[in-house]
Amino acid sequence: MPAGGEGELTLTVKMRVSPEPESVQAILDLMRRYRDALNYSVRAIIANKALSLGKAHRLLYKDLRERYGLPSATTHACYREAIAIAKSWLRNPRRGDMPIARRLSMWLLHEQGYRVKGDHVELIGGYRLRVIGWDRRYDDFPNREARLVFRDGEFTLYIFKRVPRPAKYAPKGVLAVDINEKQIVVGNSSVEQRVETPVERALHYRRLAERLQGKYSSSRYRAWRRRSGIRRRIRYFRRKAGNIIEDWVRKTAHIIMSLAKQGQLAVAREDLTGLVESLRRLPKDHRTALVMLGYRRLAFWIDWQAEKNGVPLFVVDHADTSSTCPRCSAELVEAGHRRLRCPSCGLEADRDTIAVLNIEGRALSKMGDL
Ligand SMILES: [Zn+2]
Repeated sequence: MPAGGEGELTLTVKMRVSPEPESVQAILDLMRRYRDALNYSVRAIIANKALSLGKAHRLLYKDLRERYGLPSATTHACYREAIAIAKSWLRNPRRGDMPIARRLSMWLLHEQGYRVKGDHVELIGGYRLRVIGWDRRYDDFPNREARLVFRDGEFTLYIFKRVPRPAKYAPKGVLAVDINEKQIVVGNSSVEQRVETPVERALHYRRLAERLQGKYSSSRYRAWRRRSGIRRRIRYFRRKAGNIIEDWVRKTAHIIMSLAKQGQLAVAREDLTGLVESLRRLPKDHRTALVMLGYRRLAFWIDWQAEKNGVPLFVVDHADTSSTCPRCSAELVEAGHRRLRCPSCGLEADRDTIAVLNIEGRALSKMGDL
C-alpha cells in the first residue's frame, strides 16, 4: 500500500502459511468470532460516535472479551479495525448501508498478535503456522501489523513493512501513458508501444455470472441462492473477471516502469478523476464497471510502482489531449477513423498517438517549471 511518512513507504509482504491440521478448526473459529465482533463493533462505534481509541476501548473492551471470547490483543486489534472502517464509511458522502465484513480476515498487532520465528509463525492463542513461501526482498526491514486471511481453503498472512523511499532519478525525458477502453498507449516522440486491455475477456466472465444468476433466479424462489454449488460458480465467475483486470493492471504497470527505468524517463499519466466521474454518470452496465475498475487500478499501480522504483511521475490535465495539435496547439480535425489532422501545421496521426504526444508535452513543460 502506498502510504507512510516522509522518507518511508509502507508495503505488504504476502506470506503463505499453513496451520497444523489439528488447529485449523480452532483458528477458523477464532477468525469467525473476530469477524462477528468486528461487525458488532462497527455498529456500536457509529451509534455511539466512539471514534477514538480511548472511547472505543471503554465502550467495547469488556463487551468483546465476554461476548466473543477474544484474547486481549485480538480485542484491541478488533476495535482498532472497527474505528478505521467506521471512519471511512462516515467520510464517504455516497455511503449506503453500514458496511458488513463477510470474509474471514483478522487484523494482528505485531508481537502481541503474531511473531515470525524462522520457518513458522506464532499466532495469538498459541497456534503455530508453517511458512510455505514469501517474498524475501524485504526481510531486513522490521515487521509491523499483519492481516491473516482465509480464502479458498488457504491461509495467507499479509505483513506490513516500512521501507525507505527510494531516491528519484533526474529524468532524461518523458514516457507518456494514454489510457482508453480498448488499449493503453505508452510512448513519446521517439517510441510507442500499445497494450490491449482485457476488458472484453473480463466481460465474458461477468456475463457468465449474470446468465447463471438469471437462469436460477425466480421472483418466488430465488432458487440459486439456496444452491451452494451454483452460488459458488457465480462467485467464481465474478472473481475471475476482477482478477483478469487486476493481473493485467499489475503487469502493465510493471512494463511501463521497466521502460521508464531503461531510458531514465519520467512517467506521465493523465489525471483520470474527471473521466471516472463522467463514467459514473453513465448507466451502470458491466462494461462501464470494468472499464472504471481498470482505470482506477491502473492509476493506483502506476503511482505505487513509480514510488517503489524511484521513477519520477507527472499527473497531467486530461482535457483536450486528443483534440489539440501537440506541435502548434491548433484544434485538430477528423481525418478518417480515429485519425486526426492539424489544419495549421499539417500533422496527421492516430488519435492515441496524438494523446501520447500531448501528455508528453504537458509533462515536459511541468518538468521545465521545476
Ligand atoms: Zn499543428
